[in-house]
Amino acid sequence: MVDRLGEIRRDSAAVAALWPEAVVLGIDDKGRMPMTGVDVPDPWGMSTDVILGRRPSAADSTPAARLTLVAAQGPYDPERHWLLGRDGERVVFATPVSELSSGYTLREAGPLLPVAESELVAMAAALAAWHRVEAHCPTCGTRTAVAAGGTCRWCPSCEKDLFPRTDPAIIVAITDADDRLLLARQGVWATGRHSVLAGFVEAGEALEQAVHREVLEESGLQVEDVTYFGSQPWPFPRSIMLGFRARALTTDIRVDGEEIVSGRWFTRDDLLADVGDGSVVLPGEASIAFRLIRNWLDGTPD
Ligand SMILES: [Zn+2]
Repeated sequence: MVDRLGEIRRDSAAVAALWPEAVVLGIDDKGRMPMTGVDVPDPWGMSTDVILGRRPSAADSTPAARLTLVAAQGPYDPERHWLLGRDGERVVFATPVSELSSGYTLREAGPLLPVAESELVAMAAALAAWHRVEAHCPTCGTRTAVAAGGTCRWCPSCEKDLFPRTDPAIIVAITDADDRLLLARQGVWATGRHSVLAGFVEAGEALEQAVHREVLEESGLQVEDVTYFGSQPWPFPRSIMLGFRARALTTDIRVDGEEIVSGRWFTRDDLLADVGDGSVVLPGEASIAFRLIRNWLDGTPD
């Protein structure tokens, strides 16, 4: 785990004092960061070999990829040098850079990196996306200044702190009475792609309500036994995915035909066969969707 150094973030002199000995992670406008040991042509489909047992999950094997961090150079600039935290002996800042000729996003490389480096990448991606588009106060329009080592912006006119927003989305693995898993296809996805259902939480809505509503809207199913599974930052640009499992009360799938174009119940044998012949392509290992699907495939008891 990265130590986010919350106790010194508000002390700009203390943050500045960390800079000369720090290492820096560059991130470009496309959210790409320099890394070595990454071999991922397409994040979708990278999980196929894991599902079919041809290689271990990145989570179960020694990470192959590493961030390429460079020594801090020049004077500390709080507007551009965002303190991510301490990872072991090293203090890491992120900074925006011009387009990288080679680099990878969190989505592509997250699961291939050591856990702490994956965490640094998620923080850098979220901060870069936020600072790029939210430089002005939403209340009065004044240009705001970076504060707290990069995790906050300050409006000098309103005298208010502004924090990055995070949009919650639910994602849910639904099984039926025979322990089959529902996978669905969005109309905008390339052929073969399937995943579990997901959707944004609406204003004033509890997470459990969002699960029931989204599932009903997208599949026509009613569910029970909604249980929390885990969460994952998904800064594309500013979501957090909140994972659930649920049991369907009925099996008659009625997709909305717009966002979701088809849905189907899979047995474990069905899924392995369809992934094997390429007719089903599952989400990449970086996603909580993959973890939910794998958890069901592994038959992990509730
Ligand atoms: Zn303001």
